[in-house]
Amino acid sequence: MIGYILCFGAGLIFGVILWAILTIFVIKEGKEILPNHHIHHHGDEKKMIANNLASKYPEFFDSPDFSIECEKGWYRILEDMFEEFRKNKLELEILQIKEKFGSLRVYVGKIKENKLDLVELIIKKAEDLSSKTCEHCGKEANIQNTAGWYKCICNKCRMFRKLRGY
Ligand SMILES: [Zn+2]
Repeated sequence: MIGYILCFGAGLIFGVILWAILTIFVIKEGKEILPNHHIHHHGDEKKMIANNLASKYPEFFDSPDFSIECEKGWYRILEDMFEEFRKNKLELEILQIKEKFGSLRVYVGKIKENKLDLVELIIKKAEDLSSKTCEHCGKEANIQNTAGWYKCICNKCRMFRKLRGY
């Protein structure tokens, strides 16, 4: 009987130590990946990304009804895309930018006809790149199926989100 109790006690202590090590590790890693208190201002951060892009590249946002919904890991990809638009003096209007099946989707309105191919090429490049880039931290990742949802997310961010319960 005493043997059982000792065994149980040892198991419990071992479990607690393991849990503590894992928690410390994950919190530390998590802070590295998500420095801007990402968890508490999730909606705000998406809004901030949309506002930043719209104010940095106003020539592509004629209509006030545009919508941009993506996490900060893809910000750089979008910035590069807008830089390409600008460099090539393309005239177009962004209607919607969002995530679908784990990668970026960019929908545009008015485009000058003769530049259609180039616009499509630049957008495709951004969309392809997003399917290999973690939407949360911007590091290399693959599209994963999490409980029926497709997300391009690296293992660290996935573990971090799982522990946080979303
Ligand atoms: Zn990540």
